[in-house]
Amino acid sequence: MGVLTPDDFTANELNMWMSHALEQARSAEAHGDVPVGAVVVHRHSVIAARHNERELTGDPTAHAEVLALRNAANVIGNWHLEECLLVVTLEPCVMCAGAMVNSRLGMLVFGAHDPKAGASGSCFDLTNSGVLNHRIPQIAGVRSEESSQLLKRFFADRRR
Ligand SMILES: [Zn+2]
Repeated sequence: MGVLTPDDFTANELNMWMSHALEQARSAEAHGDVPVGAVVVHRHSVIAARHNERELTGDPTAHAEVLALRNAANVIGNWHLEECLLVVTLEPCVMCAGAMVNSRLGMLVFGAHDPKAGASGSCFDLTNSGVLNHRIPQIAGVRSEESSQLLKRFFADRRR
């Protein structure tokens, strides 16, 4: 288990950090990337804030969560992120959930569920698996409606 629990954070804090992640998500659209944003919080301060850059960089691993974990590890000077909370607008995919387990992330908060590819409960539950050596406490559904609206609008615009 991570060292953090949902009791360590207030609803106001989660709301504020999710606002920050949603802002990041919106900036992904500027370069044609799927609007997903993530922030990493350490000791109640945001130390990394990133968005999807897969189209921008041509890097298949450039999801918001992976980029934010990488930045956070740089800031802390260590790959161990037990004391960190990651807040992301969409349920992580298998790659990002795997990266969270490998960074020993302290806690995860996400917005919308991803019924097609989510790996934190929807399709797989990699962040809370008895098979792996690390389980991550999570809170799901924080401002999920705003996150889904962003995604729906993005895909609707692309179809036009
Ligand atoms: Zn991902």
